[in-house]
Amino acid sequence: MDDTVSALEPTLVAIDGPAGSGKSSVSREAARELGFGILDTGAAYRALAWTALEAGVVLGEAQELLRVLDQWRFAITLQGDQRVTVVLPGETDTHDITAAIRTPELSANVSAVSQHPQVREQLNAMFRDLVATSGLPGVVIEGRDITTVVAPEAPVRMLLTASPEVRAARRAGELPGLSAEQVLADLRARDEKDAAVVDFFNAAPGVTLIDTSDLNFEQSVRAVIDTVNAVRTAD
Ligand code: C5P
Repeated sequence: MDDTVSALEPTLVAIDGPAGSGKSSVSREAARELGFGILDTGAAYRALAWTALEAGVVLGEAQELLRVLDQWRFAITLQGDQRVTVVLPGETDTHDITAAIRTPELSANVSAVSQHPQVREQLNAMFRDLVATSGLPGVVIEGRDITTVVAPEAPVRMLLTASPEVRAARRAGELPGLSAEQVLADLRARDEKDAAVVDFFNAAPGVTLIDTSDLNFEQSVRAVIDTVNAVRTAD
């Protein structure tokens, strides 16, 4: 490979895991400490679901979603506080949907969008392009199928897990007003739908498994950074 080109490519850290595994918050802090960008791919699936609902599109219809994707103008910040914006098809106004994509209602709808293989292919191409054109020295890219489909060649790949009870307790802390039981039920329902499309419970060969059930936030961040540094030192 041409060394000049590879020197310009960002170092990729691929992190997968289910909701509440610590994946998003831990990846974000680890990226900050490493001086890398962070691409939250779940935010893109959420933003597409939000756009489709606004446009009155039936989420189960892949062709309709692909039409939305054709005209989709989506932006996500890879550094600093996350901001997610979209311009709806046929409009010119930019909507900041950073908060809107985190509601329990949106969470309940997003699997209907992510289940379509053609939608996934288009978003995966967009993710690879966002990383390649980021101009950053490194990017942590997190989701459900990053270690296996989006960036299986990434030099560092990890799967973050935690028991369902721990994951639900963490999510309940982020969603005041919902009981731990309700959060656990919603989480299990979403896991089940998502796991039918991609396996994010088992580490693929070469992927480091990090169980955060008994780790606090700082310990989880440390485990991720140590894994990155172990690979860097080995190089
Ligand atoms: O990570 P987060 O929980 O925000 O992801 C929201 C949804 O996006 C998931 O429930 C899943 O349906 C979808 N997703 C996916 N593949 C990814 C990231 C997210 O299917 N790489």
